[in-house]
Amino acid sequence: MKDTFTHQGLRKKLVETLQKKGIMNKEVLLAISKIPRHLFMDSSFVAHAYADKAFPIAADQTISHPYTVARQTELLDVKKGGKVLEIGTGSGYQTAVLLELGLKVYSIERQNELFKKTKLFLPKIGYRAKQLIFGDGYIGYKSEAPYDGIVVTAGAPFVPKPLLAQLKVGARLVIPVGDASQIMTVFTRTSETEFEKETFGEFKFVPLLEDKN
Ligand code: SAH
Repeated sequence: MKDTFTHQGLRKKLVETLQKKGIMNKEVLLAISKIPRHLFMDSSFVAHAYADKAFPIAADQTISHPYTVARQTELLDVKKGGKVLEIGTGSGYQTAVLLELGLKVYSIERQNELFKKTKLFLPKIGYRAKQLIFGDGYIGYKSEAPYDGIVVTAGAPFVPKPLLAQLKVGARLVIPVGDASQIMTVFTRTSETEFEKETFGEFKFVPLLEDKN
C-alpha cells in the first residue's frame, strides 16, 4: 500500500479544486491533503481517486465525492476532541477525515461485508476510530450518546428521531434528506426540546436503507 509523490501532487490539485468549489475550512482541506484516498478504492479505480467524483466500493455502495465529504465535515463544525457519530462507514474515508480532525469517532455500517473490510483496513493505515459498529443507523448508537455532532452519509427518506435525541444541546445533525436526490439539512439542537433547521442545497447519495431491505 503505497502513497507516492504523484499521489500527493494529485491531492494538492484536489484541494485546490475543493477551494474553488467553496470549501474554506483549513483543517478539512488539510485532512484531505493528507489522506491517501486511492487506498480506499478498488484498484481498478485508483487512477481516478483524486478526481472530485464518487466511485463504487463493495456491496453496491459508493465512496462519496470529496466535495461532499468536505462540505458535510465543514457543516458538522465540531471542535477537536469532540465525540461524533457517523452513519454509513462505507469505505471509511469520511471516518478518516473526522479522525484527522482529532475527533473521537463512532461509526455505524449495516452492510456486513463493508463493515468487516473497513474495520480491518482503517487501523492498517493508522486510523483508529473509537468504535466501528455493525448495525442500523436509523437507531443511532445510544450507549455512547449524547454526541457533539452526527453525520449521515446516505440519503435519508426522513429524519430519524433517535438521531436528534442523541445530540448534545448546541450540537448538529448533518443529514441529506430526500429520495431520488437529497437536500443537505442541518439540525442544531438549541435546547432539550428545540431544534433549528437549515438547508444547504441538493446532493445525490445512495439510500439510507431500512432494516428489511
Ligand atoms: N462515509 C462513506 C460513504 C459510504 S455510502 C464513505 O466515505 O465511503 C453510504 C453507506 O451507508 C454505505 O456503506 C451503506 O451501506 C451505508 N448504509 C445504508 N443504510 C444504512 C443504515 N441504515 N445504517 C448504517 N449504514 C447504512
